Amino acid sequence: MSRTKSQLAFARAKTLMPGGVNSPARAFGAVGGDPIFIDRAQGAYLYDLDGNRYIDYIGSWGPMILGHGHPKVVEAVTRALHRGTSYGAPTEAESELAELVIEAVPSIEKVRLVNSGTEATMSAIRLARGYTGRDVIVKFAGNYHGHVDSLLVAAGSSAATLGAPNSPGVTCGTARDTLVLRYNDAAGLHAAFERHGQEIAGVILEPVVGNMGVVKPSEEFLSAARTLTRQYGALLIFDEVMTGFRVAYGGAQSLLGVTPDLTTLGKIIGGGLPVGAYGGPAAIMDHVLPAGKVFQAGTLSGNPLAVAAGIATLKVLRDENPYPRLHALAARLVGGLEQAARDADVACSVGWCESMLTLFFSSQPVTDWDTASRCDTKRYARYFWGLVERGVYMPCSQFEALFVSAAHTEADIDATIEAARQALAETAAA
Ligand SMILES: *Cc1c(COP(=O)(O)O)cnc(C)c1O
Repeated sequence: MSRTKSQLAFARAKTLMPGGVNSPARAFGAVGGDPIFIDRAQGAYLYDLDGNRYIDYIGSWGPMILGHGHPKVVEAVTRALHRGTSYGAPTEAESELAELVIEAVPSIEKVRLVNSGTEATMSAIRLARGYTGRDVIVKFAGNYHGHVDSLLVAAGSSAATLGAPNSPGVTCGTARDTLVLRYNDAAGLHAAFERHGQEIAGVILEPVVGNMGVVKPSEEFLSAARTLTRQYGALLIFDEVMTGFRVAYGGAQSLLGVTPDLTTLGKIIGGGLPVGAYGGPAAIMDHVLPAGKVFQAGTLSGNPLAVAAGIATLKVLRDENPYPRLHALAARLVGGLEQAARDADVACSVGWCESMLTLFFSSQPVTDWDTASRCDTKRYARYFWGLVERGVYMPCSQFEALFVSAAHTEADIDATIEAARQALAETAAA
């Protein structure tokens, strides 16, 4: 498979943009080699500059649950395009998207639209701080909430100490207001609240983690997060930027039966265009300007094109209910990958929730960042390139979810399993 045009395009891009990309994961740092430049996408497939076709399991890192170029989304965006691309004034379409979100997600009574998942989490933690009058935010290692300064923080030397910056440019002052704990560690959360409970404004978490690969929460952990935040007057924030409308139409909270105070959304609610959102009970959301005093604004927020794509996507999801089929396709893929790994004698464990899944190259179950980080990432890199060579585009890191879309067919899944079988045999031989 030739990728000469992609290689040339990357060489040019590197002279123009840092690392040649506008978001770091796209540069394939975790697997090595040059990224693949995409020319177009349709349904379940990506086509690169050299004309190669790939079965796509990234789906733009989550948004494309209907596959690429769904006719209803294309039609809605086209119609909106001819009516003007941005007004900086309210539209009825924004209320329509807000209504769809509120009807779908149990805990949301009012919602504010923003332009990305990062903006959503940044605004939600500002609201939690403004609402409670406290400073400290609790987050969990291995959860990703966008590139918000106070969430780019690593655990300090002992797990219950305040955090240290995870990127140059994040100040120690900012990091001091973030407490980083272990995911699925209810006892650690108890200890943190005992020590810092009166300073904690909110606890933010991925209710099903996608960003260290797919990791599910234990019941004990989630219930501790709900109980402790309530007991200490802090807000529980579910970051459903990835899981919202993905693991169920009502998000992970409807699947798990736990009600957060605030929810952040993104990815699917923009249908492939830039939209994020945060929402919760009216009594909390009405603290946001101009109803309340917590500042948050956006020139392009509620953009007509993006909102049109979001409305069209949510309506298809609501009316056609692809979730049972997505579940069945994902089950087929999980079963096939596990069998292929067993046959190749490759140790693995699977993280799986509905249409999100990860094949971890680790013999132990992955439950938190400590166990995730023991995976064989070198083997993953070989597996990734083995799949690319066979026309399958998986996440370019062990610590990401792959997504099944409504555009995938059983034949796509079976072709993927066969490709994985061959790629795994190669990694075993190497
Ligand atoms: C992708 C993601 C974000 C960040 O969203 P962007 O649109 O990339 O800013 C935040 N939280 C979670 C859980 C995500 O998966």
